Amino acid sequence: MTDKTIYRRLRAELEALEQEDLYKRERIITSPQSGEIRVALDGKEQPIINLCANNYLGLADHPDIIAAAKATMDEYGYGMASVRFICGTLDLHRELESAIANYLETDDAILFSAAFDANGGVFEPLLTAEDAIISDSLNHASIIDGIRLCKAKRYRFENSDMTDLRAKLEEAASAAPRSIVIATDGVFSMDGYVANIPELRRLADAYDALLLVDDCHATGILGPEGRGTAAHFGLRADIITGTLGKSLGGAAGGFVAAAQPVIDLLRQRSRPYLFSNALPPMLAGGALKAIALARAGDDLREKLSQNTQRFRSGLRGAGFRLLDGEHPIIPVMLDEARLAQDFANRLYELGVYVSGFFYPVVPMGKARIRVQMSAALSSEQLEHAIVVFTRAGRELGVIA
Ligand SMILES: *Cc1c(COP(=O)(O)O)cnc(C)c1O
Repeated sequence: MTDKTIYRRLRAELEALEQEDLYKRERIITSPQSGEIRVALDGKEQPIINLCANNYLGLADHPDIIAAAKATMDEYGYGMASVRFICGTLDLHRELESAIANYLETDDAILFSAAFDANGGVFEPLLTAEDAIISDSLNHASIIDGIRLCKAKRYRFENSDMTDLRAKLEEAASAAPRSIVIATDGVFSMDGYVANIPELRRLADAYDALLLVDDCHATGILGPEGRGTAAHFGLRADIITGTLGKSLGGAAGGFVAAAQPVIDLLRQRSRPYLFSNALPPMLAGGALKAIALARAGDDLREKLSQNTQRFRSGLRGAGFRLLDGEHPIIPVMLDEARLAQDFANRLYELGVYVSGFFYPVVPMGKARIRVQMSAALSSEQLEHAIVVFTRAGRELGVIA
């Protein structure tokens, strides 16, 4: 059975990944997601400070969200056993879609099982070969896949390079497309850089284009009430795609929020919506509570911001090389994949959990540790983490 040629090739590919230090290993967690978690280390459970979850507001184990999810499960059962349009739409789904639209100030919203599906299913129903999509080179994999699934003409501009965007808009416009969509991440997940929404908005309007912003790393964090990247600049995106799997409780689910005709057509034609199961009731119930907490969470955003500033200044002071920014994504640059892995492993042994990122997730030679701050982290935990970073950095010759 396992001596078919394909298995030999797959094993060779896996070995090559190991040899190039590009093999990803999953660590096993035995507690709820939080600022401090438990992991199995040296055969026993140990506490560890967690600096790599997307748990920005610390809501992943919030008692009110857990209570809301439990109450929803008691009332509505476990699952819908249907897609939305057959017999899977609950009053709760519509309530959550309205809550998202209300939060993000759009006409309406539509739920998906994940933001990956939202991005995978947002382009194809709206655009055909007569249209054009202009996409930032560092956009999330799910946007890239969504664009691949759509027949519109594709253009790619260099990350946040507005001169290049204008050139690509000119090029697209010269083919006289029916419609143009500009697609960008609100915050680029590997760098923590915030998209230049003012210029994106201006150019989109100048070319009668729609601006789509994937705000997975911004919803709940940036702007008034955490309404996201455009709101942070006092502006609006035309289409916002987002996740319930990061700041908004961290469970699962995605959405598109936009003008009514966009949402209505997605409900008719978006394939991941039509051909995949409805969001489980408990996730809808939990997400409703999470959105309410995020909207009211100025204290959490303040804590998150203080933690981010403290950790940045602590690591800078110790001599680490960071990418600039204010977002809770803090990239610590190590360049080589091997070093990023060794560094992450050493921190892990010392009780601090981070993840190394390397090719193909980031460019060759730009390997890094991506620290993610959370409002769940106490200042004692942060100070301890800085001490541990400094120790491991000296041991591995990253800092003097
Ligand atoms: C995490 C992420 C996604 C995927 O979100 P899921 O809900 O986990 O599928 C999509 N886009 C961006 C920019 C992300 O960071």
